[in-house]
Amino acid sequence: MEYKLISEIIDRSESNNWTDAKFEWDFDYAYYSEELESCLCGHYPIKNICVIKNKMNGTITEVGNCCVNKFLNIDDGNKIFTSIKRLKEDISKSMSAEVLEFMKDKKLLSDFEYGFYQDIIRKRNLSEKQLNIKERINQKLLDFTSYESNSNFTRINLVLKWAEQNDWFDTSFIHSLKKSCEKKGKLTTKQEEALENIIKKLKISKEDG
Ligand SMILES: [Zn+2]
Repeated sequence: MEYKLISEIIDRSESNNWTDAKFEWDFDYAYYSEELESCLCGHYPIKNICVIKNKMNGTITEVGNCCVNKFLNIDDGNKIFTSIKRLKEDISKSMSAEVLEFMKDKKLLSDFEYGFYQDIIRKRNLSEKQLNIKERINQKLLDFTSYESNSNFTRINLVLKWAEQNDWFDTSFIHSLKKSCEKKGKLTTKQEEALENIIKKLKISKEDG
């Protein structure tokens, strides 16, 4: 399994040796999959999935959290999954300060939400109003890292990648979907349908990417 992971990562890297290739990869985001997926190493099933991005060629790929830790020495996924697990058990608890920073970097929070959460992160006695805001922000993390929003991101990225080769295509609508998905953690049914129609109409498939 280790060998398979290494060769799959090298295939997607610029360098053709492992020592250099592994430094080309950065953590992008993580999500929890309800569907069973397989890791690049062949391990099945995996549920904690990290999306990593190659700094040199922009390639994006998904790897199980354990492999990301073990072979690429990237531990951002761990922190996120620990917070996801805690909030799934009790939505009134706090995400870690590191995950709060992650959400800020991903532009998922307004300035108000970020400042608010920083203030209350270690507080136990919140007013009902404060607790509502906190839980709403927690839910944003759960939505952003859900399988549902992720399959939408995958499909949005598929169209954007296709558009790189088809520059007559106006991507502004797709970018607006992406923004809205990042903000709300999901698309509306209408938006999902519109995205699906574009993919069907233009006959975009994964193989073209
Ligand atoms: Zn693996």
